[in-house]
Amino acid sequence: MKIGFIGLGIMGSRMAMNLIKNGFSLIVYNRSKEKAQPLLSAGAEWSDLPSKLAGRVDMLITMLSTPEAVEELATGENGFLNKLPGGSLWMDCTTVNPSFTQKMAKLADQNHIRFVDAPVAGSKKPAETGQLLFLVGGKREDVVFCEPLFKAMGKKFIHVGESGMGSALKMVFNLLLGEAMIAFAEALNLGENLGLKRSVLLDVLLESPVTAPYLSAKRMHFEQENFETEFPLRWMQKDLQLASQSAYQNDIALPALNVIKEVYALAKRQGFGTDDFSAIYAFLKKNNEKPE
Ligand code: NAP
Repeated sequence: MKIGFIGLGIMGSRMAMNLIKNGFSLIVYNRSKEKAQPLLSAGAEWSDLPSKLAGRVDMLITMLSTPEAVEELATGENGFLNKLPGGSLWMDCTTVNPSFTQKMAKLADQNHIRFVDAPVAGSKKPAETGQLLFLVGGKREDVVFCEPLFKAMGKKFIHVGESGMGSALKMVFNLLLGEAMIAFAEALNLGENLGLKRSVLLDVLLESPVTAPYLSAKRMHFEQENFETEFPLRWMQKDLQLASQSAYQNDIALPALNVIKEVYALAKRQGFGTDDFSAIYAFLKKNNEKPE
């Protein structure tokens, strides 16, 4: 089986490498070709257009940034969707909103393509070590078909329901991720401005049940104010925006989320967008500096 892989950013490049390490045969495409180089050295083939790639594969995986990027590559000029062979399977791992996923699933179906949404929980390191958790929506037989791929790239997959349910669960995950990060960053900023040492705050809070456990893995970011990117802040803002949109479409109110997403939006405007999302701490610190 030939697998196409489109989107070789922080996550996609590492996921694709794990497929190669597990013996899968890959044809890859990325907007910026240089990011494909390590994969080409490891044996992947290159295709210079999504449409051309689609004609050479039995299955396609996409790991792009936003719904807009997915739609453009699927249906735009040189898009892959109407070039994939009938009966082939498209797995979209991009974090998108459930209504967008359902739209893509319908388009795929109209083109006789099977579709699975499989966004991931876990960041750069789990992507590298094959420890991702896949949140999967789609038909049972298609999910079963994808199982060897989930095993090569992740530690576990959960089949949540029909198309869009993987994306729905991902919205829920990232609401918690984004809100917990802001709560912690605000707590650190308050504590430090009250005269507490940052090291003391980190020691106490990261051991305490009031703090989300995942924040322990971010300790060095706060300690050294080094926000080397694992999960870009701009994609956190995008995910919270999509969660807000999903809430609107389902007529429910998420008041805290709608404030918090705008804090990330301001941080992006101030130049923190490509830093790790933990840089929201630095954004709050900067905006709390006392005037001279
Ligand atoms: P990234 O490093 O920014 O990679 C984004 C990818 O999308 C790149 O391959 C980029 O191409 C491509 N792309 C963006 N816009 C495009 C366009 N208009 N046309 C063609 N290609 C385009 O992001 P990432 O961290 O790997 O994240 C990928 C997805 O996974 C996002 O939906 C994110 O929310 C989700 N996610 C990320 C993490 C994480 O920790 N990083 C964890 C879970 C889920 P170029 O290389 O040419 O820019």
